Amino acid sequence: EVAANAAAEELLTKAAAYAPPDGSSAFEYEAEVHKMLDIVINSLYTNKDIFLRELISNASDALDKLRFLSLTKPELLGDTKELEIKIEYDPEAKTLTIRDTGIGMTKEDLIQNLGTVARSGTTNFMKALSESEKNNINMIGMFGVGFYSTFLVADRVTVASKNNGDDTQHVWESLNGEASFHVGPDPRGNTLGRGTEITLHLKEDADEYLSPYKLKELIRHYSEFVTHPVSLRQIKT
Ligand code: ADP
Ligand code: MG
Repeated sequence: EVAANAAAEELLTKAAAYAPPDGSSAFEYEAEVHKMLDIVINSLYTNKDIFLRELISNASDALDKLRFLSLTKPELLGDTKELEIKIEYDPEAKTLTIRDTGIGMTKEDLIQNLGTVARSGTTNFMKALSESEKNNINMIGMFGVGFYSTFLVADRVTVASKNNGDDTQHVWESLNGEASFHVGPDPRGNTLGRGTEITLHLKEDADEYLSPYKLKELIRHYSEFVTHPVSLRQIKT
């Protein structure tokens, strides 16, 4: 219980010190999504590796969507012709970043897909969890809410995205355990050209995802059936 109190206190301290992105607005998670997030965050589920499977799978889906659309509209590729996934880790900043040059998300997509619109699988996932023996979060991807597994390992998640249908790159950000998230224009401007960049500010106990050995192993495993190149590199700040 002492450990649980310390963890809760750490979250509170981080929330008090938190400054959302400049110029962003707050949005409430849809009620069922918030309930499900609470369960995921408070679960004692130990196989946290699966978050990387979900992020690689989302990146791959986004690249597939763009590849398909570009068959009839090659101009969609613009200046960013490579369809690829780049994973970067920064041991100093304790961040892990997954970037794709896929279809990307508009401001509305970020607000709806990552929080305000109920995903049909949310309730079924909670039901399946309550019926499973070990709170088996591994199933999360099957219920269309895999993105939220990032909160197994991150205490802050930042999603920057740029879609062809939106002139501006936007950023979505949420703290672990909060009932709301923030969305606004990315203060850095258009750094992506096109696609999505997900930055996980790792929890103190998630240091293993800064190890190149661990990351290489996971990437090899989870990108076995991904048809786009996936690379890994270290960032030095
Ligand atoms: P699912 O992938 O089963 O739809 P997720 O929770 O993994 O569920 O993702 C929710 C939604 O967020 C996706 O359907 C997609 O619309 C959007 N999304 C997530 N990651 C990306 C990404 N890298 N690029 C574009 N859209 C994304
Ligand atoms: Mg997914």
